[in-house]
Amino acid sequence: MTTSAYKMKEVDTKKALFTIFTGICKGCGLCMEKCPAKTLVWSKTLGVYGTPAVEPKDAEGCTGCGMCATVCPDCAILIERKK
Ligand code: SF4
Ligand code: SF4
Repeated sequence: MTTSAYKMKEVDTKKALFTIFTGICKGCGLCMEKCPAKTLVWSKTLGVYGTPAVEPKDAEGCTGCGMCATVCPDCAILIERKK
């Protein structure tokens, strides 16, 4: 694994800190499909294959449920829930 795997983007939402490891995300869209809040959108930041990564569309919609992190086949999302 090269250091590019550790590229990341953080989005601070109301309920959780959302981190996408853009050096891992392959842009498959599974997390978007499974997000119960339908709050994930394609990012301007590119993933490992040069396709868009994902991010929450704003600070409001994400509930911090962690489903996106659970379903990602590549563990490219980290959800840290706020108290
Ligand atoms: S933590 Fe839950 S609500 Fe937030 S983006 Fe992931 S699946 Fe959607
Ligand atoms: S499921 Fe993982 S690899 Fe696929 S788009 Fe989402 S974060 Fe990227």
